[in-house]
Amino acid sequence: MAKDNKKLVQSITSREEDFAQWYTDVVREAELCDYSSVKGCLNYLPNGYAIWENIQADLDKRFKETGVENVYLPMLIPENLLQKEADHVEGFAPEVAWVTHGGMERLQERLCIRPTSETLFCELWSRTVQSYRDLPKVWNQWNSVLRWEKTTRPFLRSREFLWQEGHTIHATYEEAEERTLMMWKVYRDFISESLAIPFVAGRKTESEKFAGAQDTYTVEALMHDGKALQAATSHFFGNGFPDAYDIKYLDKNNELHSVYETSWGLSTRIIGAIIMVHGDDSGLVLPPRIAPKQVRVIPVAQHKEGVLDRSEELLAAIRAEGLRADIDESEKSPGWKFSEQEMLGIPVRVELGPKDIENGQAVLVRRDTREKTVVSIDDVPAVLKELLETVQQDMYDRAKAFLDSHIDEAQTMDEMKAKFTDNRGFIKAMWCGDESCEEMIKTETGGAGSRCLIEDEEPISDRCVCCGKPAKYKVFWGKAY
Ligand code: AMP
Ligand code: ZN
Repeated sequence: MAKDNKKLVQSITSREEDFAQWYTDVVREAELCDYSSVKGCLNYLPNGYAIWENIQADLDKRFKETGVENVYLPMLIPENLLQKEADHVEGFAPEVAWVTHGGMERLQERLCIRPTSETLFCELWSRTVQSYRDLPKVWNQWNSVLRWEKTTRPFLRSREFLWQEGHTIHATYEEAEERTLMMWKVYRDFISESLAIPFVAGRKTESEKFAGAQDTYTVEALMHDGKALQAATSHFFGNGFPDAYDIKYLDKNNELHSVYETSWGLSTRIIGAIIMVHGDDSGLVLPPRIAPKQVRVIPVAQHKEGVLDRSEELLAAIRAEGLRADIDESEKSPGWKFSEQEMLGIPVRVELGPKDIENGQAVLVRRDTREKTVVSIDDVPAVLKELLETVQQDMYDRAKAFLDSHIDEAQTMDEMKAKFTDNRGFIKAMWCGDESCEEMIKTETGGAGSRCLIEDEEPISDRCVCCGKPAKYKVFWGKAY
């Protein structure tokens, strides 16, 4: 049994030894996704897609509670349409893939495969929005987009990736701004409550914001290797974008006005964050609220009379409590089954053998701490329900303690460089606002960029950490995925 167990665990590299390899090993061994014949395009396998489905269901519910409606727009964008907003086209041009032929015929106008759909929403609204009665539009679509990324990693950075993109237009600046901040909050709530992932969050600097946006608000999580990951973004466009697409409405007095726009997105990259925040050397550790299976019943010595029957009864009782549960009745040894359940990150397993049945009890084992509890069989469903809540909260608390212990501050470049060599994570430092300093900091620290502005704290000093000129902003710096 012990030998079996070892074999499966040995198939993944330890986190400390090589974090990048550990990540790849977990993705493979937990059968989340597989490479396809096109670089950067993934085959999502059942275990990975089921996580995405739960993310979708949870987030979609939160969106709808704020009045969001779902739509679906096409995947192709005519070249002339993409080019109407200069910053946007400049930002996305290097990452866009083109359709040039239909069958054997060369198209008169190239069609771009959407890297994001602001242009399509704007084109639609420029034709269909006329009066104040048509506003606001608060729409979202669940789809895939294509960005011709140079380096790719499963989930974290792929060429085709799944996401949701929300797009809204409003009659006033204030209403659009409020919507931008509202969706940023929806993401923050979702990521902390459902994924048990803590973060820092704030506005992006000029150089890091979305192409064409006036402001970008981000959620930045910290992975176990000390690198940041942009988990979701919410953009405020003002009226620049809609004006470029000529979306105007008539108010009650028949006067023509601009509209104000927002967009916001969260992608399958978040699955990478779940893996890298919670996972350990035995594989995935999934937060109960998003885990496709929350509980697995594992019969022990299942050839003995009554074990399978009693296990199935217990499974039915657990399901009746509303929990997502399954049973491993395969011929594999219990040790092998345990390590498979651990690899998959199923939050709790229930072990049931002949001795347990005799004593009217079962053993519950938490995936996150491996803590065992012996419970009377009849109490299992109710105890599980509570235990899953505890696991969810403990996972958040552990990740939060890790994040908090990886936030530091620096007054000088030397201090900043030293801190980025020793302990990774986020470093708070002051900045003058010049892009050249942002660039310099990146070069000097071996890649730490501005993650977001910190706008609700006292300054550390009145000088830029890089050039010593008067500081305008306090910033979270970090190396990122
Ligand atoms: P953006 O439209 O660039 O603001 O990105 C919206 C969301 O998609 C963000 O949460 C990003 O982290 C995520 N994202 C951007 N590029 C990729 C990519 N190549 N693969 C996976 N997710 C991505
Ligand atoms: Zn400076």
